[in-house]
Amino acid sequence: MAGRLLSIGECMVELMQAEGDLMRKGYAGDTFNTAYYARMVLPSDWQVDYVTAVGTDVVSDEMLAFIRSTGVGTQWIRRIEGRTPGLYMIHLKNGERSFSYWRSASAARLLADDADALRSAVEASDVVVFTGITLAILAAGAAETLLAEMRRAKAAGKTVAFDPNIRPRLWDDPAHMRAAITEGARAATLVLPGFDDEAAHFGDADVEATVARYRGLGVRDVVVKDGAKGVTLAIGDAAPLLLPAEPVETVVDTTSAGDSFNGAFLARLVTGAPPAEAAAFAARLAAAVIGHHGALVGRDRLGLPDRPAP
Ligand code: ADP
Repeated sequence: MAGRLLSIGECMVELMQAEGDLMRKGYAGDTFNTAYYARMVLPSDWQVDYVTAVGTDVVSDEMLAFIRSTGVGTQWIRRIEGRTPGLYMIHLKNGERSFSYWRSASAARLLADDADALRSAVEASDVVVFTGITLAILAAGAAETLLAEMRRAKAAGKTVAFDPNIRPRLWDDPAHMRAAITEGARAATLVLPGFDDEAAHFGDADVEATVARYRGLGVRDVVVKDGAKGVTLAIGDAAPLLLPAEPVETVVDTTSAGDSFNGAFLARLVTGAPPAEAAAFAARLAAAVIGHHGALVGRDRLGLPDRPAP
């Protein structure tokens, strides 16, 4: 059964230290990473599109070309004169990574300013993905526009997936952050939180408390990710089920573990796999992703077979 998945958020230019002061350029961002892995896993009769906003400069052109080269569609991406993409730099010091961001005036902050365009993209899709980072970068009115579209999609029976992806540095104050994350979850049919973040910012004592809190908001399906401990599936009215993680011998880089899990899980779920099977597949993919450097690992390095010709 063919379908369309839409992921909404910010893709940034990534500069990673190569040798000395030389930098290697890439592109990444939580919702784009999820779109990338969903594209990798979905059959070719599914379309995956990304919604963001970029500028009209050369870097924006290059980012769009990169997104297209991964098979993710760019037809809904708006271009905004005078703005540029956000950028982050990864510093490596004694094997430890740290990040600096330049994103406070990025084009992506305007991704929901054209409400009609956003509605057209959502209406054309069967499955929609957004995160707490998507909400964090939007001005108050634009965040409300996005939430209204997500509620509308949920009411129309679409799968609306939300990963709280809590990043306190992106929010002006913790109470506002918690309120916005809660509204994001309320607008979703599936919430995919990471337990550490939920415990730190919502005070959940255990995974069951996270499940209960999101179920209490009217979220049908809750999938709590808990790193090496595995994931807890709470699907529909079923009792929560803990699935162990796939053992990883050497963790090389955990960037995008959660994003790759989300993309693979959704891809399998919406094409009819039972949730436990979708989660086991996603855990295997996430385990392979963290065995490699970078947010976006190629399918050849993940041991996935070549995609059959369409
Ligand atoms: P998030 O980044 O959203 O907090 P997690 O860190 O929980 O997500 O990682 C997402 C998924 O990646 C986990 O559910 C698990 O399947 C896999 N994963 C993450 N860390 C490990 C690890 N150390 N060993 C095995 N699997 C892991």
